[in-house]
Amino acid sequence: MRLILLGAPGSGKGTISKMLVEKYNIVQISTGDILRGAVAAGSSVGKEAEAYMKRGDLVPDAVIMGIMEERLREPDCSPGFILDGFPRTIPQAEALGGLLKKLSLRLDAVCNLEVPEGVIIKRLTGRRTCSNPSCQAIFNLDGRAPKREGVCDKCGSALVQRDDEKEDVVRARLKTYGDKTAPLIGYYEKEGHLLSVAGSESRLLFDQIVAKLGK
Ligand code: AMP
Repeated sequence: MRLILLGAPGSGKGTISKMLVEKYNIVQISTGDILRGAVAAGSSVGKEAEAYMKRGDLVPDAVIMGIMEERLREPDCSPGFILDGFPRTIPQAEALGGLLKKLSLRLDAVCNLEVPEGVIIKRLTGRRTCSNPSCQAIFNLDGRAPKREGVCDKCGSALVQRDDEKEDVVRARLKTYGDKTAPLIGYYEKEGHLLSVAGSESRLLFDQIVAKLGK
């Protein structure tokens, strides 16, 4: 099974990807996670990406395509994969089309998550992440709050708000999504790959995707 998950930041792509990984035994490829890893490691890709990420802008397509070409060639991708947060622009989608052709791979579906904007803003600005790099547990002030404010339930380290989850940056990321990524919905609709689901609960969106994939 080869899937793309499309949806605004905070629409639940990460959570739903993990559910799809378990259901279909495929790997999740999150460009956001790969980039955050590169920033933390201080690699040359990380150094190039960091300023864009802090502003809520997209990292240049050339950097992303370099990462993706290397990742899709790894052997764990052969049973299938789910792309979470990629492609984010029409040029990335076109380049992905060329890359898949080169690797003789075919997409099964592009799942588009439609989640109300109010739900997304509350979810992202309320997220708190454990500052301990070996824990990184995630809490949410709206629903999954830690037992003690600002303290990780699992390891007792301080919880922090990621720079790109502050409200002004969240709004910038949503604008970037509307301008640059939302056009992909029409792009994949024309290609006949689009499968749209609507709602705000990740579990219910996942159930709808599985029902529509019919496998
Ligand atoms: P995410 O966790 O997917 O929301 O990604 C966090 C940040 O990483 C985004 O706000 C972008 O700055 C950058 N990023 C992730 N994926 C991409 C992509 N496919 N193209 C460009 N930038 C990306």
